[in-house]
Amino acid sequence: MRRLFNYSSFVILIIIFILPLKVGSKQNDIIQHQNTILTNCNIISCTGSSLMKNMTINIAGNKIKEIRSGKYKPKRGDKESKVIDLKGGYVLPGFWNVHMHLTALLPDPNHIQDNESIASATIRAGLNAMDGIRHGFTSIRSVGERDYIDIAWRDAFSQGYFMGPRIFASGNAVTVTGGHRGDVEFGSDGVFEIRKAVRQRIQNGVDWIKIVDVEMLPDELEAAIETTHSLGRKITSHSREPATYRSVLAGIDCIEHGYGLTDKTIKLMAEKGVYYSPTIICNLSDAYIKEREARLSKLGFSYNQEVVNGRVLVAYADERSQAHAEHQRNALKKAVDAGVKVVIASDSTPIGEIGILEIEQFVLSGVSEMDALIAATRNPAEMCGVLDKLGTVEENKLADLVVLKDNPLENISNIRKVNMVFKDGVSVDLTHPRGTATYWDYYGKKNLKKGYLGDAENQAGFTRGLAEPDNN
Ligand SMILES: [Zn+2]
Repeated sequence: MRRLFNYSSFVILIIIFILPLKVGSKQNDIIQHQNTILTNCNIISCTGSSLMKNMTINIAGNKIKEIRSGKYKPKRGDKESKVIDLKGGYVLPGFWNVHMHLTALLPDPNHIQDNESIASATIRAGLNAMDGIRHGFTSIRSVGERDYIDIAWRDAFSQGYFMGPRIFASGNAVTVTGGHRGDVEFGSDGVFEIRKAVRQRIQNGVDWIKIVDVEMLPDELEAAIETTHSLGRKITSHSREPATYRSVLAGIDCIEHGYGLTDKTIKLMAEKGVYYSPTIICNLSDAYIKEREARLSKLGFSYNQEVVNGRVLVAYADERSQAHAEHQRNALKKAVDAGVKVVIASDSTPIGEIGILEIEQFVLSGVSEMDALIAATRNPAEMCGVLDKLGTVEENKLADLVVLKDNPLENISNIRKVNMVFKDGVSVDLTHPRGTATYWDYYGKKNLKKGYLGDAENQAGFTRGLAEPDNN
């Protein structure tokens, strides 16, 4: 019996450690050798050019080798290629969500994150990311994450051990003592500590530095930007006026939220090429949620009660006043009109479902469908310095693609009708249950006690989202 146990332990060890390596290397083989031809499709390249109808895309290995008009005609020696008739579907670049906290639960009425182990948080983060790619998000930027969990998943995905999005990671945000998030993390104060905090994160492998500029003094802010840039990284800030203007002036690369954004700052952002990540979805009010639900209902998206619950739940994540929500939407529209490059960023979780909502929010805020799609693809790729490889559907770029059943330029909510997703030329398995329902069921209902009241702010979001808290 003892021997048998040891033998099975050995087999389990092999399965755990050797098999993933095999899968990893096999996946890399596929990336190098499989050719896929997507035909009978329309292309929204997100380069700024208009819709291309009746096209064929030839994917060789992990790259887009050729794009041409007309249907695919078999050629000699083309037997190796897998031909997929997309039946008039729409091919876009993979989506990006560039303000993400993979482990954050907003709201978290059951206090799942209080004293949560790194192991549990890591598993949730991975589920969140892998769910995101099934919604079409082939790239994400993490801007504030505990214990470098974002870096661990970034590397696991890029090695091919799991199929997940490309991650641009920041680790924990740099913030001052007593500042936003400064209560739960160690703050960094003064030029010396700020420089050290930036360097420590870069030594740990981050791609971006995320700061909270709101409470920083000018010398601290400048030290953060200077140190980051001197080490060849980019820096973004959780920001609110008047700190936003100071950050833009000091050379920040991107602004998160930008609460209370003024016309003067918008003008300076346009001049200096600073990206804007408005996170509209974090600033909804009742009126907007009702408007959106009515609209989605017309489109037939509200009939699945689980999906409705998920949508409402997350929409209340960080509800603000009507005036605040309106200001935020106007700022986005003004920024786009002024020529500021805007990017899709959800902040809230899960990244897939809320990322989709954020793209829709752009259109509801008055941004055109095409500009909203560019904000989800081209702009973030450029912001992350990889536009030469990603962000548009063009020859010689990496084949990170989303295939939609219907045209999102006619109705932006057609981004929900995902038929296929490719990352590095590999088709993503979409058959796994979508995240919203299962994710929230598990991490929400698990500890929910009947009669839970919680604090008013959190309860508003949570109980409205989950109709039957005592179901299990
Ligand atoms: Zn955030």
